[in-house]
Amino acid sequence: MQVLHMNKGAGETSYATNSTVQTNIISTAKPVTEEAILDIFNHVLPESVGIADLGCSSGPNTLLVVSEILNVIYAKWQQLGRPCSPEFRVYLNDLIGNDFNNVFGSLPAFYNKLKEEKGSEFGPCFISGAPGSFYGRVFPSKSLHFVHSSSSLHWLSQVPPGLASKDGRGSWNKGKIYISKTSPDCVLEAYSSQFQKDWSVFLKSRAEEIVGGGRMVLSFMGRRSTDPRSKESCYQWELLARALMSMVSEGLIEEKKVDSFNAPYYAPSPEEVKFGIYKEGSFILDRLEMFEIDWDGGDGDGDNYDATPTSSTLSNGARVAKTIRAVVESMLESHFGGDVMDGLFQRYGEMVGNHLAKTRAKYTNLVISLARKV
Ligand code: SAH
Repeated sequence: MQVLHMNKGAGETSYATNSTVQTNIISTAKPVTEEAILDIFNHVLPESVGIADLGCSSGPNTLLVVSEILNVIYAKWQQLGRPCSPEFRVYLNDLIGNDFNNVFGSLPAFYNKLKEEKGSEFGPCFISGAPGSFYGRVFPSKSLHFVHSSSSLHWLSQVPPGLASKDGRGSWNKGKIYISKTSPDCVLEAYSSQFQKDWSVFLKSRAEEIVGGGRMVLSFMGRRSTDPRSKESCYQWELLARALMSMVSEGLIEEKKVDSFNAPYYAPSPEEVKFGIYKEGSFILDRLEMFEIDWDGGDGDGDNYDATPTSSTLSNGARVAKTIRAVVESMLESHFGGDVMDGLFQRYGEMVGNHLAKTRAKYTNLVISLARKV
């Protein structure tokens, strides 16, 4: 059973405290989100608007996204001079292990803020949790007008089968935990075919749930290169594998544990994304954009990238390691055990710091805007 949830609560290692990279991704994609929402209401003006955020997690980003979406819709209503506000149904989706309670705890303050900012004419707005995998049906048929998802669709539904060698004893990806420069073709194929399967189920499920003319804006990690071994899409995993292997060499982790671990993650190319959309056939691809985000979320002192390692680049490394830890710790902990986590992320932080001293490392993100065919 695969474990995947962002670090819970609001403490030092929580996702809530370490998600500024993802906040920046949401802001960069905001113009695409706005454009898509406005387009829906050029065609229909429903009394009850269905909105879903898929992979909502818990932390500041969860309600930030909701508030941005509500702002755009309500401003449009006012601009059209509509006599009364629509009702908003907002569904927050994530896997069952997500810290929904933390999100629900912040709802009273959020509702009060909405009332203060928008006045009593606004709404009503009903926010609810919709637990379950987005690789399958989550919502009733034709119940949604707008679907949003940020930084979530690079997670696969499972580790691709086919990474273990046929005799069941070895791995095709020894010493690595994702696609790497040295991965054989069968590893690449296993990953890309799992991505296509998941992507198709995702699109089919949403096609049932979204009304004709409804829209979907999705942003996730991807790559510009056609080569999945390119650094832009896998180097953060390469360094994490090296940190694990350095613990293996000191006898702190068993080598076979590293060999049998692979991340259920995939950073697709635009061609792979488009192929799945055309093949499934229910959506029109209105926009596909790519942008880069610094590993340190653009908040660090990026000017240090061509220096020899300084205390500042090394501490950038530690900061980046914290952002990654908040995302992957649940998965690694269930496989390698909790006692090696501090040591692992300490090493990882140092390796990332050394890497940042040589280069300005960036993630590539894809943002796509889709319209449900009428
Ligand atoms: N959207 C938030 C959180 C991104 S973290 C933000 O931008 O900050 C990614 C989230 O996707 C995690 O909370 C993870 O649990 C969720 N996720 C991953 N796979 C999922 C799936 N199959 N179904 C639903 N949620 C999923």
